[in-house]
Amino acid sequence: MNSFDVIVIGAGVIGSSVAYHLARFGAKRVLVLDRTQIGAGTTSQSSGILRTHYSVPENVELAKSSWAIYKDFAAYLGDEDAASGLVQCGYLIWAPDGPKLNPLRQALAGQSAQGIDVRLIDQAQARSLLPIAQFDDAALIGYEPEAGFADAYLVATSFARAARRLGVKIIEGVEVQRLLMNGTQVVGVETSQGTFHSQTVVSTQNIWATDIERWTGIATPVSAERHAVLALEGPQPYTFQMPVFKDLGSPGMLYGRSYGGTQMLVSEGTVGETLAAPDNEQGDISLDYVGEVGEQVAQRFPGFENAGLASSWTGVYDVTPDWNPVLGRLPEVQGLVVGYGFSGHGFKLSPGIGRLLAQEALGLHTDVSMAPYALARFRSGQLLTGLYGKGAVS
Ligand SMILES: Cc1cc2nc3c(=O)[nH]c(=O)nc-3n(C[C@H](O)[C@H](O)[C@H](O)COP(=O)(O)OP(=O)(O)OC[C@H]3O[C@@H](n4cnc5c(N)ncnc54)[C@H](O)[C@@H]3O)c2cc1C
Repeated sequence: MNSFDVIVIGAGVIGSSVAYHLARFGAKRVLVLDRTQIGAGTTSQSSGILRTHYSVPENVELAKSSWAIYKDFAAYLGDEDAASGLVQCGYLIWAPDGPKLNPLRQALAGQSAQGIDVRLIDQAQARSLLPIAQFDDAALIGYEPEAGFADAYLVATSFARAARRLGVKIIEGVEVQRLLMNGTQVVGVETSQGTFHSQTVVSTQNIWATDIERWTGIATPVSAERHAVLALEGPQPYTFQMPVFKDLGSPGMLYGRSYGGTQMLVSEGTVGETLAAPDNEQGDISLDYVGEVGEQVAQRFPGFENAGLASSWTGVYDVTPDWNPVLGRLPEVQGLVVGYGFSGHGFKLSPGIGRLLAQEALGLHTDVSMAPYALARFRSGQLLTGLYGKGAVS
């Protein structure tokens, strides 16, 4: 009874989506193993922003197909009680004159060419959408009405519940300690609760994907990078009707959104603190750092000059050298499929990526080619670097 068609390691939003899609595509015996609990990894730390704004066309395509699922999440899962917590408030992104202007122009044109409803708007229109901000320096402003944010933990647990309803077995509190191999073929996993057998293993381990390198010797180009998220209480509410924002003109490339319908959730979109080892425990956020971010916020949102810090937390990104994920099979290990390296933007892609990894694991035709996301790109030099350089906007 310890034999399965597919074993998934990790029940974050990616692994839960993979598990659901495996069952949806007809896999009968699917096992998911997580060291902690469903959604308790980096998924629980997400800011939850959903947009299709990317400069890498493959990401636009995946974000687009994922958005279609988010918009009708309960119906897609066939579970009327399922929720994603979606708030469709739109997405505003702007740049001043300078190095980010052309990348923004090109990314917006690319999105339009891929069928996304994106609009170029002027400062007055931007003010009417986000009246608490000032846009005096904004040389180019893009608006994506079909965007917003949702709750990553809710989405992970909804995928997991729908997977269980289709017969998937999910065991929490089990650590996978190594892959079992027969020559170059995976035949199962050894865990803290014994061995489980399968010829197909999907690893969705996020920052802990470095386990794969320990188990197989295959380089895993991913590092754990800590980021801070602040919730600010300003004099005016940041309402659910106000769009998510991305300020390419601020030193920290700030992004933000409504938090709870009144506060502002804000974070920097630049490089964070690289950790020596994968670990998503809470880190320190110094008052100096809060001051630095607060100053940038006040530049853009003048009323927030004396905003209070309502809450804060840290979260960890699984960052690859080009800030895009590694997806697909590792040719040296038959039966192993991986999905890691989401570099701070995996939530918005999780429905589409769950479909792709499940299709790949089952030997089905994939919705789109995963070739651009292959690990081999780090050997061939065909990186997926976005026009904005390093950062989750990619
Ligand atoms: C602060 C922050 C803000 C973010 N904001 C956004 C955003 O606005 N929009 C967006 O799209 N994305 C965002 N992201 C990124 C997004 O949240 C992640 O890409 C996504 O949640 C990753 O899901 P996951 O399933 O890969 O990882 P995880 O949720 O970390 O799941 C991995 C799971 O694997 C398990 N595991 C690992 N190794 C083992 C083992 N050996 N045995 C058993 N179990 C194991 C872990 O316990 C864990 O539960 C943000 C991330 C952070 C940290």
